[in-house]
Amino acid sequence: PPFPIFMSGAVQRGFGRGGKDLGCPTANLPDESIIPMSSVTKTGVYYGYAQVSRERDGKAVLSEGDGKVLPMVMSLGWNPFYKNERMSAEIHVMHDFQTDFYGHDMKVMVLGYIRPELDYVSREALIEDIETDKRVALKSIARTGYQQFQSDSFFD
Ligand code: ADP
Ligand code: MG
Repeated sequence: PPFPIFMSGAVQRGFGRGGKDLGCPTANLPDESIIPMSSVTKTGVYYGYAQVSRERDGKAVLSEGDGKVLPMVMSLGWNPFYKNERMSAEIHVMHDFQTDFYGHDMKVMVLGYIRPELDYVSREALIEDIETDKRVALKSIARTGYQQFQSDSFFD
């Protein structure tokens, strides 16, 4: 079984394509950080845990709660910037951060697959599906046997 899959890297700027407008900002990792996902390659939505480093340039700039191991949903797709020849991973952390965390190190543990990528007829349909993804992710990691992952030694 491929899971858990581990990734880490410094959060990069994405295309700024309305993540925040949809109420769902998605953090992007550099290309080389996504290599571990090549063992699955299936595009779509995944769930797991993420941890954002509180520090940037050696100084703690995020609050303590922001640095915890938190549930996440991740969309894995083809990157239009590279003519769809490379994968891209967009990670929404289920937590209300006080500020952006561009440049911060982020650790991601992927634990399972939720659904394939879909084309949406409307913005409302997309938002509704994202809400379903979040509920599925929370339900999945709440199951017996998953708690061990939150305290895995991969995280700080
Ligand atoms: P971009 O196109 O630059 O990725 P987004 O609108 O998708 O822009 O916003 C992503 C950025 O928002 C992240 O890089 C991060 O700095 C910040 N952010 C704030 N809260 C969250 C969150 N809960 N999950 C993911 N990113 C968040
Ligand atoms: Mg984004």
